[in-house]
Amino acid sequence: SREIQLISHPTGMPTLNNFALAQTKLEPLQDGQVLVRNLYISVDPYMRGRMNGGKSYVPPFELGKPMTGGAVGEVVESHAEAFQPGDVVTSNYGWREYFIATPPELHPVSRDIQPLSVYLGALGMTGLTAWAGMYLVDVKADDVIFISGAAGAVGNVAGQLAKIRGCEVIGSAGSQDKVEFLLEECGFDRAFDYKSSPAISVIEQLNLAALNGIDVYFDNVGGEMLEAALSALRVNGRIIACGGISGYNAEIPQPGPSNLFNITTKRLTMKGLIVGDWLGCRAEFEQVVGDYYRSGKLKNKETVVVGIDKAVSAFLGLFDGKNIGKMVVKLE
Ligand code: NDP
Repeated sequence: SREIQLISHPTGMPTLNNFALAQTKLEPLQDGQVLVRNLYISVDPYMRGRMNGGKSYVPPFELGKPMTGGAVGEVVESHAEAFQPGDVVTSNYGWREYFIATPPELHPVSRDIQPLSVYLGALGMTGLTAWAGMYLVDVKADDVIFISGAAGAVGNVAGQLAKIRGCEVIGSAGSQDKVEFLLEECGFDRAFDYKSSPAISVIEQLNLAALNGIDVYFDNVGGEMLEAALSALRVNGRIIACGGISGYNAEIPQPGPSNLFNITTKRLTMKGLIVGDWLGCRAEFEQVVGDYYRSGKLKNKETVVVGIDKAVSAFLGLFDGKNIGKMVVKLE
């Protein structure tokens, strides 16, 4: 079985040299164990933080060990009663072709929903993140919501869920194709390409898209996008602090927004979101969002890269905006 290991801590933007593709031998199955073949593995921006040595809300990756993370696979052999060959499961076993696990480490999912990679996207961790954001700040029908990183995995589902709630939805993303995707496939009311006119500040672009301001900001990006949102938010506005990808590769800490005092003058609320805190809602989320997906009310968009040897470049592509929807790696 092949696996990808982190072999050194990156400084700034990671490179291929921080990783190695290694061959490992699987031990014979013991009683109570299950052998799983991964079908799809997830590459996610939060993994960048885990590549640093230090402590954070998820433990760092260990050097010389396989990269852990979301994956969907098929049971090949089972010495545990709860699983049969052919069952489809999600796990946190990450960037490897095969692994041996015990039942509590596996989450069974239905094979009836296709493609199975949907369990890494709209019906997986990123979908749950978008879902949690709606509850974190109680997103309501008359809200105008602005979402940054809107064409990404979390962002596009957040926008679709906000539309289902009846909100007016505005998004920012890094290309014209992404803007078209938001407007035509996700039902956003307005969207802008923040890279298209470097001469016009992000604040001005947001003001043009949100003439009367915004009530909620779903932050996936941080940096100047957060600064723009602080300026556009109306009195009593709410911020879902979900991600700050613009700073993940920074070698020195980035300064905070220059207009943070808007929090005081406009009585804003900014709440941090960690998806792991919402696993108790997973069954309800899978039921409700699963129904939206099956009925066509919600789309699962993904960018699929093929081959475990392409996992690192797929991961690095997240920081260049190479993905529309969820970036997934399909194993051959
Ligand atoms: P995405 O699918 O959104 O992929 C990353 C996207 O970020 C890229 O496609 C790119 O799109 C954009 N991006 C990359 N670099 C920059 C930059 N410097 N400035 C602005 N945009 C940039 O990833 P996810 O949907 O998985 O994650 C989105 C955010 O949510 C991340 O910050 C992630 O860490 C966070 N997150 C947080 C969770 C939590 O529990 N708090 C759980 C899951 C995700 P573009 O072309 O638009 O630039």
